[in-house]
This record gives sequence, structure tokens and C-alpha cells, in this order.
Amino acid sequence: MTVENAISSLGEFELIRRFFASRENIAPSAMSVVAGIGDDAAVLAVPRTQHLLTSVDTLVEGIHFASDQDPFLVGCKALLVNISDMAAMGATPHCYLLSLSLPATTPLRWVEEFSRGLREIAGRFSLSLIGGDTVGSRGGVTVTISILGLTGQNRAIFRSGAQVGDCVFVSGSIGDATLGLAWSMGQLPWVNPDDGNWLCNRLDLPQPRVQLGKMLQDAAVAHAAIDISDGLVADLGHLGASSGVNVRIHAEKVPLSDTARRVIHGRDSSMLTRLLTGGEDYELAFAAPDGARHSILEISHCLEIPITEIGECVAGAPGVTLLSAGEPMLLEQAGWSHF
Ligand code: ADP
Ligand code: MG
Repeated sequence: MTVENAISSLGEFELIRRFFASRENIAPSAMSVVAGIGDDAAVLAVPRTQHLLTSVDTLVEGIHFASDQDPFLVGCKALLVNISDMAAMGATPHCYLLSLSLPATTPLRWVEEFSRGLREIAGRFSLSLIGGDTVGSRGGVTVTISILGLTGQNRAIFRSGAQVGDCVFVSGSIGDATLGLAWSMGQLPWVNPDDGNWLCNRLDLPQPRVQLGKMLQDAAVAHAAIDISDGLVADLGHLGASSGVNVRIHAEKVPLSDTARRVIHGRDSSMLTRLLTGGEDYELAFAAPDGARHSILEISHCLEIPITEIGECVAGAPGVTLLSAGEPMLLEQAGWSHF
């Protein structure tokens, strides 16, 4: 790496100016940006009839992305996973802050492609970049994004609202990201490159279900919701634990993509367990009363997003039970845990 091609050739402020402070990063939104990048803090005008929601997510080189990962995809995914948290609450995301820790030797091209990835996703979801921090790192790259969004007053959907008798639904398909990761690590030699690439795309570019979250919120049909980041079983375990109900998942009802079905066809049943406990699908799982089925079907048609009923909330130990052919399955690990 020559010094001219590393970020140390620009310095902190030129780096911010060149890649993050442009007008392109501001999108029109319900929450107007009174002052964005350039002062000590951003100032936002928050509509009086709304609640402001915020969350933060960190991606660490070597843990969340490999050092040789395409920086464009790192930028895309960093923002997509944050957007997914807003979707899970039924909120519409509006703006974000970006904290970057970068080794001085980071190639300029890395930051350029990373910021292009961010802009691509921000443009798609009309998000403004309103501030951040840029610091040096003696380790690898760390990316932290804080996101802000709005819901109607008292309309956010929590993890804690599920009730005994609720049905449990999930959007899209489960397990593609896990298979994508396994394929990219050479663990699925029987998978053809087309299927492998499709699965990797599901891992690299998840589709946060913002419209779905918003429609569930508007229609007030979901009692509780969560996005699947750690794994279907683990995340529904979180929902069950915070709601004080036992979420029963029927393994055979969990929607798999045609590709995932092909990949696990004829393999041992531990492959299916791996899909149900693997993370990074960023689909929405939610609990809703029996009577909401019709509205949910309408939402599914309107958005052209498959929504599948996979289980129910029952009285019992708060948490989750995975059933196969009606019998509880014992799992070594329900999902991803950092420590
Ligand atoms: P301070 O020293 O007050 O923290 P900085 O010098 O770190 O301010 O940042 C100057 C301005 O640039 C601030 O408005 C800050 O929000 C913004 N900023 C810094 N880094 C980034 C970044 N990576 N992305 C977006 N905005 C940034
Ligand atoms: Mg600073």
C-alpha cells in the first residue's frame, strides 16, 4: 500500500468532506434536518405526533465481515441491518449517524467503495446521513451506525407484547444467509455456483422489511415483532422471554426458499436445524391474534412478500420450543452469541 493511496494521505477532515459530507447524503423526509454534518451535533425537527426511535449496530472486521470482503457490500450491509431494526419496531427509518474506526493504512478505495455502498442503500430508503465520528484504529476497521426513525405515537411494536393464543408468523424465507456463509466457506461442495451465489446474495444484501413493519403498525395487527438477526429460534426465544409466553415453532412449517430446499435435499436432518438456528436472515417474525389472519394475508398480497404461519404462543416457560412432527427438539445452540 503506497501512502498516496491510503487514507493517511487525506487526513480526517478531508476524508469526511470527500466521502460523507456531500449534499447527496441528505434525503427529504418527515423529520427534517435543521443542521446535519458540520457542527458539533445534528439538529432535527421531530413531528409532534410521532415517536422517535433509535438503535445502534456495530460491524467489526474479522467478526462481521472478512478483511477481503467487497467494501461496497460492507457499506450496504452496515446500513441494511440497522434499517431492519427499525422495520422490526414498525418504524420508518429517516436518518443515521456513522462512526468509523480506520487503520491509517486503509486504502482510499476502501472508503470510497464503502461510502458508495452506504449511499446506494440510503438512496433506496430515503435516509440522510446527519453526522458521525472518524477515528484511527490500531486493530481492524469498525463501523458503527446509529439509526433514527419514526412511528405514530404509542404505535411502536415491541418484542414484549405477545399473548397466549397468538399465532406466530415469519416473512420471506429462513436459512438462506446461513447456507450462503457455509457455501462461501467451501462447506457445501455439492451446491452449484448459481445457487451458491444466490445464497451469498441473501447473506450480503438482506432486504429489511420496512414496508411490512409499517403496515403491521398501521393496521395494528401485530402484538409483538422481532427481526431475525441471531437465528429464527434464538430470536423467537427473545420474543417469548420478553412477552412471558412460550413460542412453539413447528419446524416443518418454516418457509425455505426453493434453493435452500434443493441444497438440503437428501442431507441429514441436522442441516434443517442449522437453517432454523442460523442468523442474518433479517426477516420479520411476529405474533398476532387469530383474528388477524385475514389482514395479514392482505398485507402479504399487497406487498408481494410471503408470510407464513409457523407456530403459536402458549402458556409455559417463557422462551421458545422447536417442534418436529409435534415433538420437542433438543438444540445445542439456539443461535449466534458473541461470547
Ligand atoms: P467533533 O470533534 O465535534 O466530534 P468531528 O470533527 O469529529 O466533530 O466531526 C465534524 C463533523 O463531521 C461533525 O458534524 C460530525 O458529525 C461529522 N462527521 C465526522 N465523521 C463522520 C462520518 N464518518 N460520517 C458522517 N459525518 C461525520
Ligand atoms: Mg469527533
